[in-house]
Amino acid sequence: MSTVPDDLPEARPAALLRPAGRSRPARVLFDGPERVWEAYRDTLPRALAEAGVLATVSRDLSPEETDWIVYAPGGRITDFSPYRQARAVLSLWAGVELIVVNPTLTQPLARMVDPGLTQGMVEWVTGHVLRHHLGLDRHIRRTEPRWEPSPPPLATERPVTVLGLGELGLACALALTGLGFPVTGWARSPKDERRLARVFTGRDGLAPALTGAEIVVLLTPLTRLTENLMDAERLRLPRRGFVLLNPGRGALIDDAALLAALDEGQVGHATLDTFRQEPLPPDHPFWSHPRVTVTPHIAAETRPETAARAIAENIRRGQAGEPLLHLVDRRAGY
Ligand code: NDP
Repeated sequence: MSTVPDDLPEARPAALLRPAGRSRPARVLFDGPERVWEAYRDTLPRALAEAGVLATVSRDLSPEETDWIVYAPGGRITDFSPYRQARAVLSLWAGVELIVVNPTLTQPLARMVDPGLTQGMVEWVTGHVLRHHLGLDRHIRRTEPRWEPSPPPLATERPVTVLGLGELGLACALALTGLGFPVTGWARSPKDERRLARVFTGRDGLAPALTGAEIVVLLTPLTRLTENLMDAERLRLPRRGFVLLNPGRGALIDDAALLAALDEGQVGHATLDTFRQEPLPPDHPFWSHPRVTVTPHIAAETRPETAARAIAENIRRGQAGEPLLHLVDRRAGY
């Protein structure tokens, strides 16, 4: 069953973001788990001050007192409807699939775009692509003294496909292009992107984007259109023995289809950072499968220093009556 509903309320128009009066500080409600609050308790007020925003940040504001909500999953708010004065909800996470489906959310929603997050993802993707491209495991796991030279092909001979060409996907695709890989990208809307070998878009572009790939990287958001993107049929399209990297979201993959494709040899290796259920349950077959690498959702961390600056910049913009950055399209789901 789909976890991503079709019907969502329209967000309140961003036009309601009139300039705030200068008479009192903006009141920012921080709604997230305790450990996240610990990381932002000092950094966020500092970033706001550096951005020239007069503001107070607290975990304890009534709905009537709240001008802005800074949000991370696992906080206290489940019903956003009493926060009628809140000018926007600013997500500390780049992926917003957990909040975008909340039917009580009518405030504009902005997501996290943070240079630290992008850099982290580029490093994770590049590292794991190179691991498989160079066949590093063969050397690292050697148990006997065997001298068997089998040099890997050059990157130029290893086609890579990146699904999703947003903030993270495009940065990864360009980094891989810089290393020499012929990179094919796939996105929802047409792109004039000439730095990649090929770009396909829309539903019809998915099969040509996947066909012949030796490494596939999933970096689309989880929406009703991308859930189970890699199902049994799509897993058959890349080259036999291909490597699948999923730092996007667990539900982009049909788990049972992936396990079958691994057992049958169509997928040579899967390196997974995101899962339908996190933490990945101890008895999940991914843990013990010899050709699955599990990393515990660490591909890219939101870094408090840079993320707090991104949040502060959006509050500054809103307070000044300027359009917010990185607003989520509620209907598209990302
Ligand atoms: P963006 O919104 O910037 O980019 C999303 C990309 O996916 C866009 O290119 C978009 O197309 C494309 N896309 C969305 N829906 C479709 C569709 N139906 N068909 C084809 N393409 C589609 O997101 P980010 O790059 O910032 O982040 C991507 C995801 O990475 C996040 O949603 C999150 O789930 C995950 N993530 C994982 C982290 C980790 O540590 N593992 C950390 C941070 C994020 P278009 O360009 O046309 O809009």
